[in-house]
Amino acid sequence: MLAGHFGVAGIVKAWRPGIPMAALLVASQAPDLVFAPLAAMGAESMAPAAPGLSGYGSLLITAPFSHALVSNVVLAAVVGLLVQVFLRRRWGSDAGWVLGGVVFSHWLLDLLVHRPDMPLLPGGSGPPLLGLGLWEVPVAAAVVEGGLVAAGVLLYGWRTLREPPDRRRAWAYSAGVGVLLVGSFVFDLFAS
Ligand SMILES: [Zn+2]
Repeated sequence: MLAGHFGVAGIVKAWRPGIPMAALLVASQAPDLVFAPLAAMGAESMAPAAPGLSGYGSLLITAPFSHALVSNVVLAAVVGLLVQVFLRRRWGSDAGWVLGGVVFSHWLLDLLVHRPDMPLLPGGSGPPLLGLGLWEVPVAAAVVEGGLVAAGVLLYGWRTLREPPDRRRAWAYSAGVGVLLVGSFVFDLFAS
């Protein structure tokens, strides 16, 4: 899932417009940005959940570091603390809490859709593995993810176009975010 996490960023941007959208987009994918280099080094991986299974929601990850519950609590706390200390004046008094929350929202959304494949403790690969498995019902998962994408695009556009300092730029940003979110949803559905 790429698009659902981006959807959260769009929703939060409408609520806290002082925080740059780029920061929210990156925060929403933070655990996967840890996963990618670990996977490249062979420390983490992903594969079809069952032999022959393919398409939307078919993946099972082995991610004992990037997607462990405790790792994500720590990652969210570190990001939140850094933002709160260094960027609070520019981004708003509670920006660290908001960014930390967006980082942790990734794990919560993954918890909803993943089959049980996320450990409790970093380094752990045995039970209890966490995941509620909505991907077992791809249509239901797609409805949830599509809802987040729609909410993200609409709320971002509504907020950005409401008080634009530069109307043409506001439309360009809204269109760019729309293309990113809808494009990543199409990628999730048909190419991942
Ligand atoms: Zn993830």
